[in-house]
Amino acid sequence: MTPARDQHDHTACVRWRAAWILPIIEPAIRAGWLDVVDGRVVRVGHAGDEPCGVVIDDERDLGRVAVLPGLINAHTHLELSFLHDRVPPAPSLPDWVRVLMCERAVASDDPVPPIREAVRQLEAFGTAAVGDIGNTRAAVTPLIESALYAVSFHELLGFSGGDARAVVAGTRATIQTIETRGRVREALAAHAPYSTSPELFLAIVQVSREQPNARVSVHLGESAEEVEFLYTSGGSWRELLEELGMWPEGWRAPGCRPVELLDQLGWLAPTTLVAHGVQLDDEELHMLANAGATLVTCPRSNQWVGVGPPPVDRFHASGVRVAVGTDSLASAPDLNVFTELAEIRRLAPAVPAAALLRWATLNGAQALGFDELGAVQPGRVSRLLSVELPTAVDDVEECLVQGVSPDRLSWIA
Ligand SMILES: [Zn+2]
Repeated sequence: MTPARDQHDHTACVRWRAAWILPIIEPAIRAGWLDVVDGRVVRVGHAGDEPCGVVIDDERDLGRVAVLPGLINAHTHLELSFLHDRVPPAPSLPDWVRVLMCERAVASDDPVPPIREAVRQLEAFGTAAVGDIGNTRAAVTPLIESALYAVSFHELLGFSGGDARAVVAGTRATIQTIETRGRVREALAAHAPYSTSPELFLAIVQVSREQPNARVSVHLGESAEEVEFLYTSGGSWRELLEELGMWPEGWRAPGCRPVELLDQLGWLAPTTLVAHGVQLDDEELHMLANAGATLVTCPRSNQWVGVGPPPVDRFHASGVRVAVGTDSLASAPDLNVFTELAEIRRLAPAVPAAALLRWATLNGAQALGFDELGAVQPGRVSRLLSVELPTAVDDVEECLVQGVSPDRLSWIA
């Protein structure tokens, strides 16, 4: 006598209807529906093509909204959240870093409360996952305690001699293991070619590759001074290293472009995330594309730190997988990826809005290795956003890349 829906082995199926559904992996669906069972999407379709014989336990019409996957912020530094509004825009990256290092050195703040507030904001801005870089593990516990998926990159830098492999192995031991499963994973990162020895780069990638699918991250091609440093071993980065007593006597410039250096160091792979790339030429972008690596663009931060806007049109034309990051609260006013998308749209009005939304969702999820995120598709988790639309819209994708304030957002399911 007991109907099937009341038996223990039945998991409730909820059908959500919306004016628009953006699967990302296929064109936007006007008047769409999706079925969710046990936190996973099981079916997606257009009104009128609902299958027969499916038990729907609850049906909810969200109305004039667009449903899309939670966004991916593929490059941030949560541990710098306490520096919000303390490091002003600068004319060059070395100048900006000089102030950042001074502020960091004198700060006595507990970094954890600002990290918790930043995590709360990330969720309110519609973020499902982050690629977070840290020199400490201060953000790991706040991330575990949140609903965010994360790859927490432990970043290494320095030119000091010694056994780079032992240094990296020691770091790996402190993070227990390089996790490639689970919602919060730990991984290794190099800071940048002007701050990190080639030996350290090599050791990071070698130790990471012991674990299949482990991600690595690096800041690359951010400032013109970096390219100058790689060709001449001179310029503002050398001056700063000398000021800090970090200049490695006997260091020789590799005499090549940033991506060529990455290639020589064995870093070009689908598991590599390259942040910024503002200075990269077309040949370098094609090298990244051919390797399947991801370029994470952070346009507001680039302009804040004085390296200028990224060549977003060339990124798109190159075929490289592009993801979106905000960088930290030390160089961006907030961690809102929708606002980052609006800046990208301003810089590159010709790139299709659907491509930009893919950058901020599926591409970031693939870059970080979260196959369950990034699209509205059967089998993926239902970490989905509902965005109120201002009026009836015909080009929903264009509407979404114009910026979305948190008061128009809610999480469904
Ligand atoms: Zn960064």
